[in-house]
Amino acid sequence: MPRFSGEPVITVVTRFAPSPTGRLHLGHAFSALTAFRLAEARRGRFLLRIEDIDTARCRAEYIDGIYEDLAWLGLAWETPVRRQSAHRDDYAQALARLQAADLVYPCFCTRTDIAAAAAAPHGAQPLYPGTCRALDAATRARRMAEPHAWRIDIARAAAITGPLSWHDTARGDIAAALEAEGDVVLARKDAGTSYHLSVTLDDALQGVTDIVRGEDLFSATHIHRLLQALLGLPTPRYHHHALLTGPDGKRLAKRDRAETLAELRARGVSADAIKHQLGFA
Ligand code: GLU
Repeated sequence: MPRFSGEPVITVVTRFAPSPTGRLHLGHAFSALTAFRLAEARRGRFLLRIEDIDTARCRAEYIDGIYEDLAWLGLAWETPVRRQSAHRDDYAQALARLQAADLVYPCFCTRTDIAAAAAAPHGAQPLYPGTCRALDAATRARRMAEPHAWRIDIARAAAITGPLSWHDTARGDIAAALEAEGDVVLARKDAGTSYHLSVTLDDALQGVTDIVRGEDLFSATHIHRLLQALLGLPTPRYHHHALLTGPDGKRLAKRDRAETLAELRARGVSADAIKHQLGFA
């Protein structure tokens, strides 16, 4: 097929990136179908990624369940499927770059320390008050044998990158609002990495051009944009979609025992009926 010189060929690459901590429900089906249909409409590629860095909560049977449910919905994805637990070296290398640039610091705080110091309103996720950012080098060196996480020094990082922005299909150009997120954890005590670090790196390594996910992750994108700038990674387009709610008006969630796709299937609901209900013809 003739190609016009100078015209870049950009293939759309989308992904669905569930964590295998439970069976999928309708909210996941909506997200996966949106990403799949976007790739299909642009003759692009659709990837599935298993986000299983949290070994305490992830289970092999849930990974099988993800494959089973998505196939039942008629989705097809490229193989091999990337499993984050098999790529800890990639995350460690990215963290090492940020450590070498002095943009992260070890944090020895427990959840209780943070809740007490942050004096957060009851129920809200407390913003990290910066306790360990202030530790002097000698104290840090002395405490390194203790379990510790690594947090990003947001103010220092933002001073290096300057103002950043990203594009959301529904809301347009968005200025990265970093201070509101606080010094988030990039490497957890127990996992050596974090959702933020792994997801940002993987999306870049896998060449994802369009990120489809729920709007509960909208604010995380500010952090991901910062990490892209610091690690020299491309910035994809973002499609944050509204979250599905149950009959009680609350968002569907695994922990609230939202009816799973497996349960719907078991009581005779067809994949077509689900697609129809979710607005996919
Ligand atoms: N693994 C994340 C989750 O299950 C989603 C990651 C993303 O789409 O960025 O909520």
